[in-house]
Amino acid sequence: MSDMISVEEFRSQAAAWLAANLEPAEEGGGRRIRGVDHYTRGSVVPERALQKKLYEAGYAGIAIAKEYGGQGLTPAHESAFLSEAADYRMPDFGVLGGTTFGVCLNTMLVHGTPQFLARHVPPILAGDRLVVQFFSEPGAGSDLAGVTTRADRDGDNWVLNGSKIWSSGAYYADWGMCLARTDWDQPKHRGLTWFAVPCDAKGLTIEEIKEINGDTEFCQEFFDDVMIGDEDRIGDVNEGWRVSQTMLVFERGAGRPSGASGPITPGELAPDLVAMAHHLGRTDDPEVRQLIAEAHTNYFAQRQLSARIAGLLRKDPGNSGVAAYGKLAAGTFGPRRGKIGMRIGRAGALAWDPGDRDGMEASLNYLNSRVQSIAGGTNEVQRNGIAERALGLPREPSFDLHRPFREVVRESGGEWKPPTA
Ligand SMILES: Cc1cc2nc3c(=O)[nH]c(=O)nc-3n(C[C@H](O)[C@H](O)[C@H](O)COP(=O)(O)OP(=O)(O)OC[C@H]3O[C@@H](n4cnc5c(N)ncnc54)[C@H](O)[C@@H]3O)c2cc1C
Repeated sequence: MSDMISVEEFRSQAAAWLAANLEPAEEGGGRRIRGVDHYTRGSVVPERALQKKLYEAGYAGIAIAKEYGGQGLTPAHESAFLSEAADYRMPDFGVLGGTTFGVCLNTMLVHGTPQFLARHVPPILAGDRLVVQFFSEPGAGSDLAGVTTRADRDGDNWVLNGSKIWSSGAYYADWGMCLARTDWDQPKHRGLTWFAVPCDAKGLTIEEIKEINGDTEFCQEFFDDVMIGDEDRIGDVNEGWRVSQTMLVFERGAGRPSGASGPITPGELAPDLVAMAHHLGRTDDPEVRQLIAEAHTNYFAQRQLSARIAGLLRKDPGNSGVAAYGKLAAGTFGPRRGKIGMRIGRAGALAWDPGDRDGMEASLNYLNSRVQSIAGGTNEVQRNGIAERALGLPREPSFDLHRPFREVVRESGGEWKPPTA
């Protein structure tokens, strides 16, 4: 018989610990605005301390094996903790919270060797290692298998050269998960390998990129003879495409533990939009009322869809076709909500008085709303995925699928070419 603590007992222990040790959540969940609330190495210092507190008390990595610093419990224990923790102030690492704990850690757990996991997982759980994703490149985004950053074997080491771009939060990350080409004679999907790279590695330069919302969350990286050990490889050599698939499914929302228990309810009526309508004296305007109702309905429908997709993915974790539906919904409703905010805010969402957070929020939400339709795979790419992998329609025609990548690069006349063998 298992001596594992029951979920209910774990929940009541967690509730007592949370009440004794954590601060209550900020009003409105601390509503951070992308583009205004800039995260820095300094601003995440208290968040790291908070994460360490959770880790030391046994509330980080609840469903992760004990040998990797976790608690060896089940996702149900983790969900119980998250639902109790919803009323408390939890660590906020900005965009790196999602990439570290939602995407990179989960991917490492699927593909890392026990030795790799023993070295990397405990510092991640303890808040000492925030991880950024290095996959997109100036010449490879939707066509991710076309990356040309290279990793060449040098004894027990690998030498990385090339450039990555759009890496969210790289400037305050500790490590990156990097996709590189390790075999140019294989077709594009077969010569790829993933590595973990320290952000302070010699030869790695990280440059911030100014964005339309005024922030500099994105970065471009330049790898100039960056040397890393083979022990920091993730997955088998040339099997990187399998790892990429896992990562993209996590990126599209799979495996995210949910603190919600019980049925999903419609929740509060679009509180930020209602507040803005009040502020502008537009609550009686029929158009505004319609728009608020639309935003609220979309939000509810999207949460229902996400819950259904999460359920399907729990049964079939690698199903990227199913994951694509959730990502497409976010990429469709996100931009629509951004437009709704602008239509309610009118001129006040284009120019606002100092301190008027409503106007600023509507404007930035609009500028930021494309994030969800591009990041982690564009809407068009999700539609392709649904067509091919969920509906079984014919694959997109492709001229380079079965040819050695070396030939594809040579014929494309790209400036940066691999050396000949
Ligand atoms: C907010 C944000 C955060 C991001 N964070 C990261 C990160 O942390 N790390 C990282 O590595 N990358 C990151 N990215 C990059 C992101 O993954 C890429 O922008 C995305 O995959 C699209 O690639 P691209 O920008 O090169 O566009 P392209 O691939 O050049 O696409 C341009 C247009 O062509 C369309 N298109 C391309 N191929 C097809 C096709 N086969 N069929 C139909 N239409 C097609 C696209 O849908 C798009 O509209 C981020 C992007 C954003 C917006």
